[in-house]
Amino acid sequence: AERPGRVIWRDGEFIPWDDAVVHVNAVGHASVSAAFEGVHAYWSPTRRQLLGFRLRDHMRRLVDSLRLGSLRPSFDADELTAAAAGLLARVGAPGRDVYLRPWGFAAGLHREQMVPAGTRAEVVIDSWDFTSKLGQGQTCALAVSSWPRLNSSASPAGLKVFSNYHNGRLGTIDARSRGADWPVFVNANGEVTESSGACIVMVVDGTLCTPDPGSGILDSITRRSVFELAAEAGIPTRTRRIERTELYLADEVFLLGTAAEVLPVVSVDGFAIGDGAQAGPVTRKVESLYHQAVRGALSTHEAWLTAVEPG
Ligand code: PMP
Repeated sequence: AERPGRVIWRDGEFIPWDDAVVHVNAVGHASVSAAFEGVHAYWSPTRRQLLGFRLRDHMRRLVDSLRLGSLRPSFDADELTAAAAGLLARVGAPGRDVYLRPWGFAAGLHREQMVPAGTRAEVVIDSWDFTSKLGQGQTCALAVSSWPRLNSSASPAGLKVFSNYHNGRLGTIDARSRGADWPVFVNANGEVTESSGACIVMVVDGTLCTPDPGSGILDSITRRSVFELAAEAGIPTRTRRIERTELYLADEVFLLGTAAEVLPVVSVDGFAIGDGAQAGPVTRKVESLYHQAVRGALSTHEAWLTAVEPG
């Protein structure tokens, strides 16, 4: 197999990574309209396969983000899913987990940010190794960002466009300046929304509660997965408005996302969550279910997995 970073998928072809270059005036790849995804593929030691997790759902969201940005990708979600599987087969190797980075941007030379509506989108899929932290006892501290979440009526938070991440970066810098790891964004009404690259869940009286989509958040694929797994395990789930003070008093809090996986929160604005040091029992249960799902250890949800034999 070729290692991640040795080969890249670009507009229908697998090409050497070093050849995937753009001109400095091709601003499309760096423009405000560029959209992206982050996808994980987990190695299953028992099946000896690399399992792409919900590839098609991620590709669907990428195509949606591009179309809502009035760019025209030449590939649909099914074609991009097949391309991602082909890349995994080329870059995968036994024992290694792979992060896929599909993204799309205005093709051709542009000097202006205001790329015309209807411009064709070039799509690439890059990849690199990552180390899963599932089951490793990781935790984090949160601080409510002094920058509110960008207003979804001005720039839809449901699109995964690079331009939305300036807000996320400002909040992350702010949270870290106050000794926390990640921000929690509230919206203009003071309602909890999400973190900078992950959504947020609190546990109250055994129920998983997460902000309403109307609060202005990305429709997290990890959250959809975890909520299904929790419901099947008899853990009740709810979507509703959440005030920041509810986080301070919650029994448990955790972040969810492709990169964050299931990340237990031990404090919010200095308020200890649970014992202030470790994940609570519901978080641990959810983390275990998600871990089993992504490594292909559950007999249910086979449809979430794209199994690839590397080599
Ligand atoms: N919110 C934001 C702002 C994100 O960037 C991400 C990561 N894509 C998430 C939530 C989690 O989404 P997902 O579970 O689909 O990775």
